[in-house]
Amino acid sequence: MKVPLLNLKAQYQTIKNEVLAATRELYETQCFILGPEVEKLEEQIARYCHTEYAVGVSSGTDALLISLMAAEIGPGDEVITSPYTFFATVGSIVRVGATPVFVDIEEDTYNIDPQAISDKITKKTKAIIPVHLYGQCCDMDPILELAHAYDIVVIEDAAQAIGAEYRGRRAGSMGDMGCFSFFPSKNLGAFGDGGMTTTSSDVLYDKLRILRVHGSHPKYYHKLVGGNFRLDALQAAIILVKLPYLEQWTSARRANGRCYRELFSHEGLDDFVGLPAEKEGRHIYNQFVIAVQSRRDELKRFLNEAGIGTEVYYPVPMHLQPCLQYLNGKKGDFVQAESAAEKTLALPIYAELTEEQQAYVVRKIKAFYSS
Ligand SMILES: *Cc1c(COP(=O)(O)O)cnc(C)c1O
Repeated sequence: MKVPLLNLKAQYQTIKNEVLAATRELYETQCFILGPEVEKLEEQIARYCHTEYAVGVSSGTDALLISLMAAEIGPGDEVITSPYTFFATVGSIVRVGATPVFVDIEEDTYNIDPQAISDKITKKTKAIIPVHLYGQCCDMDPILELAHAYDIVVIEDAAQAIGAEYRGRRAGSMGDMGCFSFFPSKNLGAFGDGGMTTTSSDVLYDKLRILRVHGSHPKYYHKLVGGNFRLDALQAAIILVKLPYLEQWTSARRANGRCYRELFSHEGLDDFVGLPAEKEGRHIYNQFVIAVQSRRDELKRFLNEAGIGTEVYYPVPMHLQPCLQYLNGKKGDFVQAESAAEKTLALPIYAELTEEQQAYVVRKIKAFYSS
């Protein structure tokens, strides 16, 4: 049996005709940059994320970058975030000239530990970027309280968390801005790169739209230095086809999560495999990440030989990345992040995954730890 980590071809088969019709229409118009498709998508994403506005941008990375630019974060400023995330979170902070300041994660959710944040707040702290990792929201209320008390901007990295909820609120609607990615492997993936920044602030909305087109407003007059952060119409048209299916895909992922829990418990694997914690709110399972006590890399190879795709997100925490050594991070600084980097493994969780495939995955894990 083959169980890939992700099967985008299976999803494409279910929407192929609609995608082809939508893109064919666009070819006739020959209008590919921003335009009505992008505006329609922005309205729908804002509604879906419970925000006033959304601004379509070129990637999740650029959503982060443009948010930091809109918040006027730059040299001399500190930005607090998690050391256990995709590089883009931290890369964007460095690219605007600010200094990343890391706070360790919670052992069970892999999200930033709100209790550890206040120790790292200084006069230079201008923003916090909580990362809703793997599809589950950070514990946002204490973070928002701190941000309010110290007048700090909150930019949610919701690249993996579209539709995730925390105490009834949606990812991307809790901070000042929310950043989303339409990278193909995200829950709402385009046929290329794309992203979105959400906000409910009129001031930030205007700034984001101006920064997206090189700071030009009116055209060819520049009060700000922005960039080319535009979303193209083809990607928007494809995401518009997919968005109506997102709730059903999310439900399927969550059902697959429940199925794994039953299978793992049935096989008596509790001593070997830690399952992802589900806290208050809706986890959308961009990844189903297990933590194993031993032999993680060996298990990965074993599963690969059995036709099962898995991935290690992320093997090197940010404070140990070579390009960030000027921050003087060293092993032992963030023990939870380092432990997660050593122990975690993402299993297939995509919507079209069958129960038989899941049973096969769990049986193989059992076989590995029985040998
Ligand atoms: C995917 C991702 C990004 C970057 O999104 P791109 O669209 O690939 O640029 C940023 N942060 C996190 C946590 C991500 O998973």
